Amino acid sequence: MIRNEETLNQTLATIDRFILARLMPAEEQVDREGVIPDDIVDDLRRLGLGGLALPEEFGGVGLTVEEKMHVAVAFGRTSPAFYRRLISNDGLGFALVETGTDEQKRRWLPRLASGEVTGSFALTEPNAGSDLGSLQTSAKRDGAFYVLNGTKRFITNAPYADVFLVLVRTDLAEKGAKGISSLLVESDAPGLYRGKADQKMGLHGNDTGDIIFEDCRVPVENLIGPEGQGFKIAMRRLDIVRVEAAATAVGNAERLIHDSLDFAKMRTQFGRRIADNQLIQAMLADSKAEAYAANCMVMNAARRMDLGQNASTEAACCKLFATEMVGRVADRAVQIHGGTGYMRGTSVERFYRDVRVYRIYDGTNQIQQLVIARNMLRDEN
Ligand SMILES: Cc1cc2nc3c(=O)[nH]c(=O)nc-3n(C[C@H](O)[C@H](O)[C@H](O)COP(=O)(O)OP(=O)(O)OC[C@H]3O[C@@H](n4cnc5c(N)ncnc54)[C@H](O)[C@@H]3O)c2cc1C
Repeated sequence: MIRNEETLNQTLATIDRFILARLMPAEEQVDREGVIPDDIVDDLRRLGLGGLALPEEFGGVGLTVEEKMHVAVAFGRTSPAFYRRLISNDGLGFALVETGTDEQKRRWLPRLASGEVTGSFALTEPNAGSDLGSLQTSAKRDGAFYVLNGTKRFITNAPYADVFLVLVRTDLAEKGAKGISSLLVESDAPGLYRGKADQKMGLHGNDTGDIIFEDCRVPVENLIGPEGQGFKIAMRRLDIVRVEAAATAVGNAERLIHDSLDFAKMRTQFGRRIADNQLIQAMLADSKAEAYAANCMVMNAARRMDLGQNASTEAACCKLFATEMVGRVADRAVQIHGGTGYMRGTSVERFYRDVRVYRIYDGTNQIQQLVIARNMLRDEN
């Protein structure tokens, strides 16, 4: 749902200008050095990236789901590391808006929305990825504290996050999702250690890493919602997260198509622009059609969510289709660029590496297939 088209267009125009002037010129350096300069992080904060969908009463921008997806597509026109720097603030904030105590809301929401603090979701473990319900990080009650032991893996922003939503097992006798709770854990909690930043294929500048808990003491008032409801609380925003991943893929695809078109018009072989060859045109056209289809899917799913309709199947379809789509678009973009596209320093080589992970996180695409088929079979009966 778009409340005011003119206001949204102004916001998107501001973002476009910012991306062109500040982010695109820094893409290559961020990829090479693996760090987003502090002044750029400050600008991302000022743009409101920490609280795009958080309610205005808590300092957020208060965008609808559809409006937020337009912003995600716009940010997709530059390296995804920038958008991901504050990506979890919204999600963590929402868990607090929906189930947090007044004190948790007062303490954290304005700071998450302004980006003063970085939030992070710590769910995955070395032995619990797709099967999150089997997670083992334990939280035993000891008076006014929970005592945490375990390791979280591949956690986005872990090396510099200030606060984590951690999924822990509070009922050790319960093996599945029912024994899991959500805890807010501050990065300076005694017994919390951060691993080194992972060396990744792409997304340089947006670090992931381990979080290790060794008898880490967390006050019981940091529990989010009731004990045993943590899995549900963390999963509640999953559909939006999946559509957001798809929206980013659409934006990345548009950038790849733009750069491919530019290159095809500029490069000459056999005495003419390579763009004048129908085999090149076919690759451009296929990419354009697929990106357009994914964009329509994203906005349709977002509108359903804004209307309060169930969009679990649609969200999984978006994530599955758009992230596979951008993989194909990136592959064609490298092909259109020839040897140049295989070289470090070109945008298409960088995006080719960056977009590969979309098929893995936020639920692998095999998990999306399972969700879609499960819903189809359920709705048949
Ligand atoms: C860059 C990056 C950022 C991340 N950020 C975060 C984060 O912020 N917070 C967080 O908690 N986690 C994060 N993750 C972890 C991510 O969510 C997991 O990697 C993902 O859920 C897959 O888990 P896994 O890696 O253990 O793979 P596995 O679950 O071991 O899967 C391996 C393969 O088996 C397939 N598979 C598994 N089960 C089935 C099945 N039933 N049927 C068919 N195929 C199956 C999978 O699709 C996959 O192909 C991040 C990962 C990466 C790479």
